[in-house]
Amino acid sequence: MTGSGPEPDSHRTSDRGFPFAAAAGVAGGAGSGQRSSAGTTLDDYTDRYAQRMRGMTASEIRALFSVTSRPEVVSLAGGAPFVSALPLDAVGEMLGSLGGPAHGATTLQYSGGQGDLALRERICEVMALSGIDASTGASPDDVVVTIGGQQALDLVSRVFLDPGDVVLAEGPSYVGALGVFQAAQADVVHVPMDDDGIIPEALTEALATVARAGKRAKFLYTVPAYHNPAGVTLSEPRREQILDIAERAGLLVVEDDPYGLLGFSGEPLPALRSRRRDGVLYVSTFSKTFAPGLRVGWVLAPHAVREKLVIASEAQILCPSMFAQSAIATYFASMPWREQIKTFREIYRERRDALLASLTDLMPAGTRWTRPEGGFYVWLTLPEGLHSKEMLPRAIAARVAYVPGTGFFADGSGGSHMRLSYCFPTPERIREGVRRLATVVEEEMKMRAVFGTAAPGAAPGVSWTPAGTFGAAAAHTPSPGQE
Ligand code: PMP
Repeated sequence: MTGSGPEPDSHRTSDRGFPFAAAAGVAGGAGSGQRSSAGTTLDDYTDRYAQRMRGMTASEIRALFSVTSRPEVVSLAGGAPFVSALPLDAVGEMLGSLGGPAHGATTLQYSGGQGDLALRERICEVMALSGIDASTGASPDDVVVTIGGQQALDLVSRVFLDPGDVVLAEGPSYVGALGVFQAAQADVVHVPMDDDGIIPEALTEALATVARAGKRAKFLYTVPAYHNPAGVTLSEPRREQILDIAERAGLLVVEDDPYGLLGFSGEPLPALRSRRRDGVLYVSTFSKTFAPGLRVGWVLAPHAVREKLVIASEAQILCPSMFAQSAIATYFASMPWREQIKTFREIYRERRDALLASLTDLMPAGTRWTRPEGGFYVWLTLPEGLHSKEMLPRAIAARVAYVPGTGFFADGSGGSHMRLSYCFPTPERIREGVRRLATVVEEEMKMRAVFGTAAPGAAPGVSWTPAGTFGAAAAHTPSPGQE
C-alpha cells in the first residue's frame, strides 16, 4: 500500500526493447511499444501476458505514496505495525544465535511443506486465546504455515477458486484479499456492513442475488475483528447469525483474523472458528503481534482441505522459511510475548484515542468515522460531494497521506471514504496529520461550493445511511479483464 515496492513493468523503460517485436512485424495497436532511439516507453509484452494479469493493474496512487515516507509527510496511510516497540536487543540476539553454529544447520536448511511442528504447536497456543483449541477440534496437524497471511489467502484461493467463481466479501474489504481474488479471476460480490460488521440480511440477499445469476458463491471472506479497513467488529449476536446463514447455504467461511489479539478491552473475542469445527477456514499471521518482516502466517483448515493447501503450497514455495519459523517459535517459547501484545495494545489504544479526539476537534461538520475497539484503522466518510481519490494529491501537497476508499471495493467505488491508520505515527504526529487533513477537506468543500458538488467518479452504490450503513448497495460482479 505504501508504494515502496518495485515499479511495474509497464512503467519501465528498456533501452533495448523486445528483441522479436520488429522481426515479427508487431507494429501499432495494443501491445506495441513506442520505439525510439532511447528505447521503449510502452509494454512490448502485452499480448503475451496471462489472462489473469488483465485486471491486475498497478495502483494509480502508487507514485503519490512514494513520497509519503518523507519525514515532512504525516502518513495515516500505511498499516505498518510499530515494531520499534519490540525488545529489539533481545530479538537481535536471538536471531544471531539461530543463524549461528548452534542452530544454523537446521534453521538455514529446507523444511517440510506444511511447516515446522514446533511452530504449529505454538500457533495452537496462540489460537487458544481466541477460543480455538482442542475442544473445538484444532490440532497442529491441521495447521499449514504460510508466508504471512497473504500467502494463506492466496493458497485458499488456489484451492477453491476457478475463473468466474463468486466470492462474497465485506464492502469495503482488505485490499490484499481483493488482489488475490482478482488474480484468481473470481468475481467479488460485496456485502454491506455497518458499525456491527457484516449485515446478516445483506448476506442473505447477496446469496440470493448470486443464485439468481445461476452461480454459487464459493466462500465468504470476512475480517470479523477490528476490520481492515472499516475498523468495526462483528457483534456477538451477529456471529451466530452469519454462521447460521453460511451453514444453511453451504457457504464456506474464510475468517481472516490478523488483529483479533489487538482489542483494546483486553479479552480477545472468540473467533468464528471457535464456534464451528467445519465450514470455517481460519487465517492469521504473526505480522501484527510480532513482526511482519519475518513473513509468517498460517491457515487452520478441516483435515481434507489442509491436505490440499499443503499440496498447493509445495507447488508454490516448496516450504516456508525455516529460519523465520524458528525465529517465531523461539520468540513464542522464550520471550514474554503475552506482555508484548499488551504493550502493543496500549500503544495502539493511545494512538486510536489521539486520532478519534483529533477528528472530533478538527474535522468539519458532515464528516463521519468509525470508532475501532482494536486493530489499526478508522474508516472515514467525507462530507457530501467530496471524493477521496480526487483529493489525495492536494492532501499530499499539504503533507498528509491516507488511503482512498476506492482501493477497498472490487469495482473501485468507495470514493466518499478513506482509511486512516493510527498504528505507526505518534499521537502528536497523528494530531498534526488530522489538522492538515481537516484544512484540505475544508478547502475542498469551499471549492465544491463554488464549482458544484458532482465529484467525478463519486462512489456509485456506496452509501452511509443515517443508520450508519456502508458498503456497495448493489452486488457488483466484474468479469475478469473488465477494469
Ligand atoms: N489480512 C488482513 C486483513 C491484513 O490487514 C493483512 C495485512 N495488512 C493481511 C491479511 C496480510 O498479512 P501479512 O502481512 O501477514 O501477509
